[in-house]
Amino acid sequence: MSVRTSDVAIVGAGIVGLAHAYVAARSGRTVAVFERGPAAAGASVRNFGMVWPIGQPAGPLHEMALRSREIWLDVLREARLPFLPTGSLHVTYRDDEAAVGKEFAERAPSLGYECAWLSPSETVTRSRAVRTEGLLGALWSSTELSVDPRQVASRLPEFRTERYGVRFSFNTAVRNVESGSLEAAGARWSANTIIVAAGDDFQTLFPECFRGSGITRCKLQMMRTVAQPSGWALGPSLAFGLTFKHYPTFRICRSLAALEHRIERDAQDLEKWGIHVMVSQTAKRELTIGDSHEYALAVDVFDKPIVNQLILDYARQYLTVPTLQIAETWHGVYAKHPDHAYVRFTPLDGVHLVVVTTGVGMTMSFGIAEQTLHNAGVSR
Ligand SMILES: Cc1cc2nc3c(=O)[nH]c(=O)nc-3n(C[C@H](O)[C@H](O)[C@H](O)COP(=O)(O)OP(=O)(O)OC[C@H]3O[C@@H](n4cnc5c(N)ncnc54)[C@H](O)[C@@H]3O)c2cc1C
Repeated sequence: MSVRTSDVAIVGAGIVGLAHAYVAARSGRTVAVFERGPAAAGASVRNFGMVWPIGQPAGPLHEMALRSREIWLDVLREARLPFLPTGSLHVTYRDDEAAVGKEFAERAPSLGYECAWLSPSETVTRSRAVRTEGLLGALWSSTELSVDPRQVASRLPEFRTERYGVRFSFNTAVRNVESGSLEAAGARWSANTIIVAAGDDFQTLFPECFRGSGITRCKLQMMRTVAQPSGWALGPSLAFGLTFKHYPTFRICRSLAALEHRIERDAQDLEKWGIHVMVSQTAKRELTIGDSHEYALAVDVFDKPIVNQLILDYARQYLTVPTLQIAETWHGVYAKHPDHAYVRFTPLDGVHLVVVTTGVGMTMSFGIAEQTLHNAGVSR
């Protein structure tokens, strides 16, 4: 069996693998990435493309999200990838939603968030996509970006190779990892540091790390519209009242309890499927709309039209966009831990499993990669 070498070897070309490849290569290390598919096809190409620091609770996770965003900006500019640095709005139509938005806007700036409460007229100045009837205002945050995850997954590998000499092997499943080496496509590859970024594949490599870890899977249904007319732009990515219940960020608000209680009482169909509605736009002017959350190790491979219907009905109440004609529907799956945003295991010397365990991998991957590789002594 032939032996080849790099300083760092990475399993998986999703966003977590790509982020580790970038940080290691930028630190002057030689890097090889192995992806079992002809291209990444997991959560990293199925998401909204939202880099969403406001979804992270105050403290280390929010700081990491902001750092990750900074690295994203370097990556996007270096690779000449389009992105929309539009910020975000959590738009409110109920008193209990507005109460959470206002309370957060009062408390959060002292915790490091760049955000403010907007009146209805200020909200419509920022976004032409929100309905004005019943609008009570919005929580504005300046730090959110959107990228097109499909463009990122296809362009970044080429760019890494051109710019940093990172070697990508697609159609190459890694079957075995040991300390200092791995085996893929009948060849042995040696590397001092091996990062396993296999997303929600818990079976192939180091299944013993996952057993009893509390990690399960989350399935989300998503949609994309046809392109909106040229000249029309969504502006900030949008979230609505349900999203205050979804992200841990807003748990600092005393007013959240009343909102949660009302949703649990009056919106049981949305609650049943874990629906909260968010909207982002791609550089090709399509709108990405989602999502639902179904938790189970065994993912239901069949999508439910009722879930898409509920998401669209909710979106129609509050959105006014040129077209909501749906061009594509799909589902994505990510790993989920009840308490941790990400988990790292070191099953062998020099071997690190990195699993983002909630729906924040686009936001956090570069920050996580910087910390993992620093701790592993790969980067300063
Ligand atoms: C519908 C949806 C919407 C989301 N929206 C957002 C969002 O807007 N913002 C945000 O921050 N996060 C979002 N997320 C979360 C984010 O997409 C994930 O956290 C992230 O993509 C996980 O990246 P990953 O690289 O770990 O996994 P994946 O993208 O699943 O990549 C893992 C890769 O490893 C490869 N692989 C596995 N085993 C092997 C092996 N043995 N050998 C070789 N290759 C292997 C797989 O083929 C795969 O390509 C969303 C997720 C979903 C599903």
